[in-house]
Amino acid sequence: MSDISILFQKQFHDWEMLNRNYAALKSIKVKEFKIDSARFKVQFNPARIISSSAKVDEKSIKERRCFLCSENRPEEQAELDWNNDYTILINPYPIFPRHLTIPSKQHEPQRISGRIAHMMNLAAYLDDFTIFYNGPRCGASAPDHAHFQAGNKGFLPFEKDYAKGKMTEIKRIPGAAMFILSDIARIAFMIQADNIEAGEELFNILYQALPMEDIDVEPMLNILCWNEKGKWIIAVFPRIKHRPTCYFADGNNNLLITPASVDMGGVFITPLEKDFNKVTAYDIKNILDEVCISQETACHIIERIRN
Ligand SMILES: [Zn+2]
Repeated sequence: MSDISILFQKQFHDWEMLNRNYAALKSIKVKEFKIDSARFKVQFNPARIISSSAKVDEKSIKERRCFLCSENRPEEQAELDWNNDYTILINPYPIFPRHLTIPSKQHEPQRISGRIAHMMNLAAYLDDFTIFYNGPRCGASAPDHAHFQAGNKGFLPFEKDYAKGKMTEIKRIPGAAMFILSDIARIAFMIQADNIEAGEELFNILYQALPMEDIDVEPMLNILCWNEKGKWIIAVFPRIKHRPTCYFADGNNNLLITPASVDMGGVFITPLEKDFNKVTAYDIKNILDEVCISQETACHIIERIRN
């Protein structure tokens, strides 16, 4: 049995709340939509209210105790060391049947710069999982503590759907290629790499080409990364907005949806049942159009990459 399976078994046995939350996930309500050729699921997941409504402004973050630092973690939470720099934990508020949180051992800000190789190494180590990264203004509920998350491979529709989109090659180097993906309801940049160095090189080229506002500490993005037969696939979803207008709307127009990597991967989370019942494919498409980059911005990014 793998170290991860042992960790799950141990936590299911020792931590009642976690056990209950994973059991509840099995009977959770899900509905499905198709937009373009892409499949989307909506998951009614009340336990995610903590994350979806998390205050991530600077003041609120400073005033709370960091829940990813080892001294503040629940007593029942077991951990597995990985590569000296990270700790693998089981996420007690799951979206996936197997959901991990992987914080850095240091309390240091959430940044992808210098960490994409860590993400790729994790994807090779956790080869049954898809690894994901939420930028500090794109869904991370701990923007002050660097971390990744991981969920069972095959759970996110995007992992299969990307192949149905239109992939246009924009850059190739020995060992890796970068593509722009369109026609699947949101724009993503895809990197396919035979080795970590080449994948990292192309990711850095993309990172430098992404737009940034004055208030940003890094380009707004969500990332999915997984390993397939020894090769890496990295999907980067550039973002222009954290929370959509409907998140702040009053009355019947309100939808408590905070899109992050999982949503970009095709699974939208609604912590409130009223939202689960009323959300439509039209709403999902509107949210994607609002928080993702436009075709025009994508063209500017491609120009910068090619020049
Ligand atoms: Zn911390």
